[in-house]
Amino acid sequence: MPHRIIHYADDPTDRVAVQREDPAWLDDRLRSPTTRIVAVASGRHPFVRADSGTRQPCYLAPRDLDGALPGEPILLGVHEDITYFAVDVTEALPPFPPRVALLRIREVITDLGHADSAVLAYANALVHWHRTHRFCGACGKPTESVRGGHVRRCTDGACGREHFPRTDPAVITLVIDGDRCLLARRRDWAPGRRSTVAGFVEPGETLEHTVAREVFEEVGIRVGKVSYRGSQPWPFPQSLMLGFRAVAESTDIAVDGDEIAEADWYSPERIETDTAAGTLILPPFDSISRWLVDDWLHGKG
Ligand SMILES: [Zn+2]
Repeated sequence: MPHRIIHYADDPTDRVAVQREDPAWLDDRLRSPTTRIVAVASGRHPFVRADSGTRQPCYLAPRDLDGALPGEPILLGVHEDITYFAVDVTEALPPFPPRVALLRIREVITDLGHADSAVLAYANALVHWHRTHRFCGACGKPTESVRGGHVRRCTDGACGREHFPRTDPAVITLVIDGDRCLLARRRDWAPGRRSTVAGFVEPGETLEHTVAREVFEEVGIRVGKVSYRGSQPWPFPQSLMLGFRAVAESTDIAVDGDEIAEADWYSPERIETDTAAGTLILPPFDSISRWLVDDWLHGKG
């Protein structure tokens, strides 16, 4: 059964860009008992084990932090009248309730609802950006968080440069030849594991250019028509995956031998039989790589 959801996408919060500029509003929200705080500790979040046995996010209330936030609060947005902030607790873990464990989102993704996983991923992305942009890239002086944590500004008066959260675009491509698609194994992957072709966009490239370059570099295939299929935030730590389907104009595979160890063409029937036999392991279900494969298979059904 193909799944049609792109995980970590469509964060449900209203990002309230106007209120970010209002310190009094932010201060009020940070005191509100209904406010919820997403704690992030080195890419991990607190999860509590529910009675059902599943792990659920442990959002903190301001009172849980006893009035002292361990890090600079980052406004995420408002959803169903609840304001969400992210706080980096890596250096000072707050006292969590019993039965809480710090885990990465992907470790518990099968337990999470779509909204929770998207909010946690969003929080993870912003906290990572703050941790890695403490100094100004222009003059080297410290930066400070402003506008609800959506800008870091250089503290040097003569510089004052504003730095904005960054996301690294990467393309991920399912290459098609007639009734077959190409799946490749990275050199460091277990036998059987296959995925689509991926790579980062380089300066000066269009997305179509990146798709054609990465496919040719990794598997030696020339592609013609490239069509956009969908995108996925991938804040592990800071990528945006841009999903494409590309039509092959050549079919002789020549893997680079460095990044990619092997690649082959797969018909829907081969995907089914190889998966059943355990000789093919499709990409993880929460990845857009898997979504691209399912999207193609579904469109054929
Ligand atoms: Zn500066």
